[in-house]
Amino acid sequence: MIVQVLGCSGSIAAGCRTTSFLLDDDVLVDAGTGVGDMPLDALARVEHILISHSHLDHILSIGLLADSVMRERATRGPIQVHALPETLAALRTHIFNGVIWPDFTRLPSAEHPMLALVPFAVGDVLELNGKRVEVLDASHTVPAVGFAVDGGTAGWWVYTGDTGPNPALWERLAKMKVAHLVIETAFRDDERQLARISRHLCPAALGHELQHLGGSVDVHITHIKPGERAAVMAEIGKLGSLHKIRALEIGDVMRLVDEPKRAYA
Ligand SMILES: [Zn+2]
Ligand SMILES: [Zn+2]
Repeated sequence: MIVQVLGCSGSIAAGCRTTSFLLDDDVLVDAGTGVGDMPLDALARVEHILISHSHLDHILSIGLLADSVMRERATRGPIQVHALPETLAALRTHIFNGVIWPDFTRLPSAEHPMLALVPFAVGDVLELNGKRVEVLDASHTVPAVGFAVDGGTAGWWVYTGDTGPNPALWERLAKMKVAHLVIETAFRDDERQLARISRHLCPAALGHELQHLGGSVDVHITHIKPGERAAVMAEIGKLGSLHKIRALEIGDVMRLVDEPKRAYA
């Protein structure tokens, strides 16, 4: 399985796209502005969208994607949008309400809609076209989750979603072989107060969180605001963490390669 980074910025500017990852060619994890760089035929192959929470930077491409692929997907079933019930209710009320955007859960027809909203709960393990995805706890200003994708013997690809400090996450990850951890650091340390009230991490808080993760893991920083990347990474560099920490970039590909089973012992 491969995980492709479509967007990993906290907001927009030239060259910056908000959060979205593509698992192989059929599962999106969050649907930020990065989705808009996919060719139309690739958009039409998306069968599932996993949504971490209701904030605009993570959801705004869902409705646009549904609109773009209506003709290409005319004879196929709806794209499944998976999220917490609270997140799905927010999408229905505030996005697919006929005012901000048409209700693609009933279009082009109620019998053959473009989108199906599918609730999950923290701890659920979803089976999506042969991919196993566990829903992880997150601690944000709205109901929120992260995701862990099972890479078999290669280990798990873990995405925290938007989150402040969260002991429940580390309790769960302690029982997993984490191959890649994508974790947010939305603010610099001089904005730690803002990070605290908006339930995000700053480098100092990241340092505290990563102390709960054993070993030396590939850690990828996401959700840095445009223009802040060098400053945030410099502060992270001073943490002296044992993990291999780098800033995520658009176009990065993370591979989870199952070790081949041996035919002969
Ligand atoms: Zn958020
Ligand atoms: Zn966000």
